[in-house]
Amino acid sequence: MSLIDSDPARYREGYGGRSREAWQEIYVARRAQLLAGVSAAADGRAAGDKRAVQVMRAAVEDSPPTPETLAPAGRCQDAQQPALPLPALQQALYACFAELANHLQFENTTVPRVAAFELLTRIEEPRRREALFRAFVPLWQALNGDDGPTSPYRRMIRMAAAQAGTGGSPIDAAAHTVGASVAEIEQWLEQILDAWSRVSSGPLEPWDYRFASGSAERALGAAIPRAALLPLNDRYYRDLGFDVTAGHVLYDIEPRAGKAPLAYTDYIRRGRLQRGVWVPTLVRVSATYPEGGLGPLNELVHESGHAAHMMALRTRPAFMDLGEPIFYEAFADVPAWSVYEPDWQQKYLGVSAATAAALRALYSGVMLDVAWALFDLRMLRDPQADPNAVWTDITARFLHVRPHPELAWWAVRVQLVHKPGYMVNYGLGAVITADIRQRIARQLGPFASGDPRWYGWLSRELLGSGEEQETAQLLRRFLGRPVSPQALLEQLHRIGAPETAAGGAPAASGG
Ligand SMILES: [Zn+2]
Repeated sequence: MSLIDSDPARYREGYGGRSREAWQEIYVARRAQLLAGVSAAADGRAAGDKRAVQVMRAAVEDSPPTPETLAPAGRCQDAQQPALPLPALQQALYACFAELANHLQFENTTVPRVAAFELLTRIEEPRRREALFRAFVPLWQALNGDDGPTSPYRRMIRMAAAQAGTGGSPIDAAAHTVGASVAEIEQWLEQILDAWSRVSSGPLEPWDYRFASGSAERALGAAIPRAALLPLNDRYYRDLGFDVTAGHVLYDIEPRAGKAPLAYTDYIRRGRLQRGVWVPTLVRVSATYPEGGLGPLNELVHESGHAAHMMALRTRPAFMDLGEPIFYEAFADVPAWSVYEPDWQQKYLGVSAATAAALRALYSGVMLDVAWALFDLRMLRDPQADPNAVWTDITARFLHVRPHPELAWWAVRVQLVHKPGYMVNYGLGAVITADIRQRIARQLGPFASGDPRWYGWLSRELLGSGEEQETAQLLRRFLGRPVSPQALLEQLHRIGAPETAAGGAPAASGG
């Protein structure tokens, strides 16, 4: 069964018979050992061994000398110090999300960030939506001050761009993985946003953007109460041939103080062969869901997609990982996008939205990711630019949103201030997600309402080999050609003509 673990003291006794401090000591000692061993390992071995040494060396050099934690380590107010070095500034900005974004003040109550997005999709009264949107202002001020050149974000992005200039950025890595240049990537992102701008209408206030494409979310929200999130997730994965309830995936989805301000999935233990017996991987999903709805369900299925990926790995220890971030973020969305398909909704909810409304709900969110990816790309290229102006330009041109350059309303994703460039893994990742979904549909058949062969087939064809080969190669082999934005563009064309009035799409139909 899946463990819903909401006890805040659950690790007080440690894990596996050892305290956190004891594990930390083991980590630090073994990291040093591995670093020494890997440096001493000579070349001239078999090709597989050579790559194993290479992968291990990169992994250990990338990993911090003390274990990383997603719990906030810094304090938001430290971001105001003018001379803070880059890592400390990024930690402080990350802490702003924990301190402010998860405690938005709205109508005498406290709303976490992801729940606020859901409410912006659902609240009928424009004035209340505007009030909720403006509840983000304290966060925006903490991150970007008055938008002047010395704001915490602007100091951060200048340092990050300088560092990326020497060490490469997540955008360079993503470009390498899809086999395109950064200039080509920018073109793809613009092409995708342009296709969206043709199937959507405006002008919209920024607080109306989610509502305008949210008719499916509103119609289906009641069918997905909070208590249904895990059972729906479990049932869909079982129908795909993956049992998340077999005891290897632990879910921690209750709201709790001190929790990371974003949803994530990580290993507790990586599987390995011991005396001829496979000791399975153990993973944990952490998220916060005070409410149900299609958006939270989509996120939960995405996180479980990471869990499915981790559980599928069956290879030597050096290769027991997911590959490049753009690939594993894109893969997690392969099953997650299904919850927006009318076929999925009909089977699992007994009610479905009209195709155009259902796809609008999905792709309005995807387009924000694409817009943030373009924003990140442009800010890293020109870190002197005014971020509010860059965001206003993108959102006015492609999302039909009225200009509000006085507001840093781009700053609602923690990655933008903590790991600049990372949003490309979602924005450009959507291209890979659409491409993989299309390939599966052609090779195996549609899977929105399940296919028991799905997980086994993908484990063999795409996931199981982990990092045995470079992600770029793996992806190209699976697709049978280079990555292309064509599949995503075709999905956007499925939406059809723009709506005449914002939010006026047809409601759900029962079945
Ligand atoms: Zn993810």
